[in-house]
Amino acid sequence: MTEELFRHDAYLKSCTARVTAVDAGGIRLDRTVFYPTGGGQPGDAGVLLRGDGTQVVIADARKGPEPGSIAHVPAADQPMLAVGDEVEAVIDWTRRHRHMRMHTSLHVLCAVVPYGVTGGQIGDLRSRLDFDIGDGSLDKDHIAARLNELIATDKPAVPRWISDAELASQPELVRTMSVKPPSGAGQVRLLEIEGIDLQPCGGTHVARLGEIGPVVVEKIENKGKRNRRVVVALRDP
Ligand SMILES: [Zn+2]
Repeated sequence: MTEELFRHDAYLKSCTARVTAVDAGGIRLDRTVFYPTGGGQPGDAGVLLRGDGTQVVIADARKGPEPGSIAHVPAADQPMLAVGDEVEAVIDWTRRHRHMRMHTSLHVLCAVVPYGVTGGQIGDLRSRLDFDIGDGSLDKDHIAARLNELIATDKPAVPRWISDAELASQPELVRTMSVKPPSGAGQVRLLEIEGIDLQPCGGTHVARLGEIGPVVVEKIENKGKRNRRVVVALRDP
């Protein structure tokens, strides 16, 4: 198991940790600030620093081979670490913070577009959600205006936990059909943007909507008869 510090504080940029495994599956630590690819959000990049100055560049983070573990995937030709090494794990904060802004903007987009989500992908400059609009239609300018209006309310985005049983009794909380919420140990993590959006989500988010800054709706793509892809980008990356 890797203790997932980012679940409770998305603003942690670094932590100390101990190496628990090193093999072709990547480097595992007892605790980490690296978010592993999942829920449409890319894994973090960064570095692992050993006390003697050894630096291992990490290109990606993914779910590890053991249940509950996170694998830090080194870039090519990096020095080796050994089990038991003490390291400082440092993420590429500039990139991660953009992921947090973009990720949170997609929660707001969910609130603006009143259709089921069938897929999505977060990037550091642009992100997308796919909607099953049925016989409906989408207006790019209206979506952009409403999205920026809600972002400007600067409402807090707050994670909270509920039991699996509570979630099972409120299936309407699951807006994203393609993404299974993180559950386990009987608890599910929700993200609540008061009065705007509430849904299970294990990703990293900014604390307040204003931190997203202005966004643009770059395009709405036709992805089949019922499906539309809405592409949103940060105006000031
Ligand atoms: Zn989220």
